[in-house]
Amino acid sequence: MTNVFFRPWVGENYKSTGFNGKHILVLGESCFCGECPGCATDGHNDWWEEEEWQRCRDLIPDVVTDFLAYKNGDPKNWSMRSYRRFTDVFMGRKCTPEETQAFWNSFVLYNYVQTSLEGPRISPSQEEWATGEKPFFEVLAEYTPDVIIAWGRRLWNNMPAGFRLDDSFQNRWGDGLRYYNNGKRDIPVYACYHPSTPAFSSEDTDYFKRLLEKVSEVSK
Ligand SMILES: [Zn+2]
Repeated sequence: MTNVFFRPWVGENYKSTGFNGKHILVLGESCFCGECPGCATDGHNDWWEEEEWQRCRDLIPDVVTDFLAYKNGDPKNWSMRSYRRFTDVFMGRKCTPEETQAFWNSFVLYNYVQTSLEGPRISPSQEEWATGEKPFFEVLAEYTPDVIIAWGRRLWNNMPAGFRLDDSFQNRWGDGLRYYNNGKRDIPVYACYHPSTPAFSSEDTDYFKRLLEKVSEVSK
């Protein structure tokens, strides 16, 4: 994955069992790694201590590891709060730390935009969105998920259009599934509201459940 800067979190059971036999790629939007503009775009050079640069690249797995170590996540931390909500809504109940850990060890989490933004939770520019496409397809080639769950309407609107649409399964705002091909298979993409927003709610639980049923049909 030569174009990927921010390495994904890869659950230890992703490849073997996944989540009940489904291999799920959860897709977030972007990363903000602090006062280090250029860490992603300039590559490793004299400006960067190797260790510091590698730490930027491991931002996603490091945040997830911290989240799981905190048991229920630090509620003051925006990422951890989003992770917590996603877990409980996806599973349809308030999960124990053990259940949370098992869930996160079943899937891959990757963030689409491959350059660090200038601040947390700001909207990526067109140039920043453009950094995502090539690495994204490398991640798909590497992990061949059965389904992608994209977090947020803004991300959804800025991802590649896909080569096929499937309106037989619609998300909460009425968009169907989109398909990408990674050279091995067609991969459906479903978009949910971002777990940090109030729109993401217990209503989503049933959508996730039906999505996995739909994925079983598609992959037959
Ligand atoms: Zn950085």
